This record gives sequence, C-alpha cells and structure tokens, in this order.
Amino acid sequence: MSTRDTHGRPLQNLRISVTDRCNLRCQYCMPEESYTWLPRKDILDFEEIATLVDAFTDLGVDKVRLTGGEPLLRHDLPDLVRMLATKQPIRDLALTTNGILLSDQAEALKAAGLHRLTVSLDTLREDRFVDLTRRDSLAKVLEGIAAADAAGFKPIKIDTVVMRGINDDELIDLIEFGKRYEAEVRFIEYMDVGGATLWSRDRVVSRDQILETLAAHYGDTKTASSDASAPADRYTLPDGTAFGIIASTTAPFCSACDRARLTADGMWYLCLYARIGTDLRGALRGGASREEISALLQRVWGRRDDRGAERRLAERDRDALLSAEQLRDDPHLEMHTRGG
Ligand code: SAM
Ligand code: SF4
Ligand code: SF4
Repeated sequence: MSTRDTHGRPLQNLRISVTDRCNLRCQYCMPEESYTWLPRKDILDFEEIATLVDAFTDLGVDKVRLTGGEPLLRHDLPDLVRMLATKQPIRDLALTTNGILLSDQAEALKAAGLHRLTVSLDTLREDRFVDLTRRDSLAKVLEGIAAADAAGFKPIKIDTVVMRGINDDELIDLIEFGKRYEAEVRFIEYMDVGGATLWSRDRVVSRDQILETLAAHYGDTKTASSDASAPADRYTLPDGTAFGIIASTTAPFCSACDRARLTADGMWYLCLYARIGTDLRGALRGGASREEISALLQRVWGRRDDRGAERRLAERDRDALLSAEQLRDDPHLEMHTRGG
C-alpha cells in the first residue's frame, strides 16, 4: 500500500530516535544548561519499535535511519539493527551518530547488518570542539570514524553544520579529512529547528556561500546526480571528490519530503517543525494490531500538509523558533528528541 499526503508525497523514509539522551551539548542543538527528559517507562522497547516499523513498511517505508539524541547510548543497539535488517521491505538501514562510542560498536553494527553510517563532525580542532559541544571528545570521534572505515562502512558520510564565525573557516580542512577515508562530506545549513535557541539568521552560511568558498580554493565545482527526494544537493570538485550541501534553511526540500520521525517514546511527527504528533505508543500498548496501526498511519499521512521549513522561509522577522521554556514544557519539540 502506498499512501500520498495532500501534496502527493509518499511516506518512504522513517527516522527513529532511539533515545533522547546525548553525550554532547552541541551549540546548535542542545545549548541549554538543563533539559526535561522523556520518562523511562515511556521508552519503546525493541519489540515495540519493530512492530511499529512493520506497520510503517505496510505504507511504503523502505528507508529507516536510527538517530537520537545519541543512538549509540541505547543499550544493545546492534540487537535492534539485527531485528530491522532482517525485514525484507527495508532496502536502506542507516544510522546517524556523533561518533564518540563508534570505536567500540562499529564492528558489532556492521555484523548486525547496518547498511550505512553518517557521522556528525563540525570541527577538526580540539579547542573548538570543546567550545561547540561542551565535551572534550574530538579524539574519540576521530577514532570512531577510523573504526567505522576499518569495519567496512564505505562510503561513510560526514555531516557538518556550518555556522558563521564558528566553523566556516574549516570547509576545506573537512573536505581534505573526508578524502582520507573516501567519506562524502555534507555541509548542512544551520536550521532554526526546536532546540536551536541560539539560532539567528546571520549565523547561517548559505549553500551559495559554501560553494563560493570551495570554488575559490579548488576551482569550479560540478553538479552531480542525486536522488530527487534526498535532501542533499551533490557536487564534485575538479579532482572528482564528491560532497553534498543540505540547504534546508535557504532552499528547503519540503516539496519532495517523504520522511517522518518517530520519537523514543513512540510519538510520530510528520515534519521537523510540527508542533503536534500522533501517539503511537498509546495505540500499541492499548493493544492495537499491526493492521490497525497501519490504518491509523494511513489516515494521518493522507491528511499531511506540512512544509515547515518553506513556511519559516516566508516569515519576515525570523528568530529562534521556540524558547527554552516552551522546550522544557514539551521536550518532543526538541531536535534531539525527535531525531535530526
Ligand atoms: N547525535 C547524533 C548526531 O549528532 O549525529 C544524531 C542526532 S542529531 C540531532 C542528527 C543531526 O542533526 C546531526 O547531524 C546534527 O548536526 C543535526 N542538527 C542538529 N541541530 C541542527 C541545527 N540546528 N541545524 C542543522 N542541523 C542540526
Ligand atoms: Fe549534538 Fe547530536 Fe547530541 Fe544534538 S543530538 S547535541 S547534534 S550530538
Ligand atoms: Fe520535510 Fe518538514 Fe523538513 Fe520540509 S521542514 S523537508 S516538510 S521535515
């Protein structure tokens, strides 16, 4: 069964946040001193997640990404990977991590059947890493990337959020670092999602500015092929090195957005910017069958009208989306809860 929303967009891509906890405090995601955490009793167990994934595949989901918070903080994550990897409709099973725990887990994740790995890395400078994340963990992240490469994840993707005056002088260094592992670096525009309480327009480095910086150093870049529903525009440098840019702030890809997000406690969101979600944990723990949950998903997706980033782009006086107080009142509005 393939269901289209009100803009004709299918549901193909599910991002599952397996925990709202994190071992970093990135400035663009978790800059506050304190957070409200999801109650432990509400966190879905692996069987529950697997049942929900079955219902999602009934609607056409064939790409699943595990994320968080920091997904590698979730105990026994390779067990969940193994359960999902055996599901025949899933043709792409990926994970996004900050890499700190990767050197311990890369081999187990590969053995469990994980297809692809994205590691977030915003700087190669130790002092800057500490300023950006409030933790002294750059060496662990670099070790993690080396371990993932050795475990056979090829090509690894490296995601970098670019912030003006913070790390926009490291674009070339990051590309050169990526070359060492044949990893594809993707530069992400700083987004004003829930959690980004320090966001301001002048901190955003746009796709055009990123391309300009790279062209000034390497020479003209060429557009490369990319999947129409993929968020990244892909390019190549004159030496053939591929890289991506996710222009989610200045050129949002809402018109082709086929993704939805499931939080660790079973709330389902149709957009990164959505204020209200659907409580799937309640349905599941209330005894709903897979068929009943699929029917619920179909009804909700059929009414989907979300184009959050496009609507934000049209706003004139634009500041951080939500205040720290609003986020403490409902942690589901946080990027680290809903899974970036
Ligand atoms: N903790 C893992 C990590 O950092 O890779 C997974 C979860 S994190 C929320 C997923 C992605 O969201 C990361 O690549 C992060 O850089 C991105 N992200 C978080 N806040 C963002 C923001 N304000 N703008 C753009 N990307 C953001
Ligand atoms: Fe950083 Fe990811 Fe943690 Fe957010 S969830 S603070 S992006 S490591
Ligand atoms: Fe999809 Fe919402 Fe992001 Fe637009 S803002 S691309 S609709 S998740």
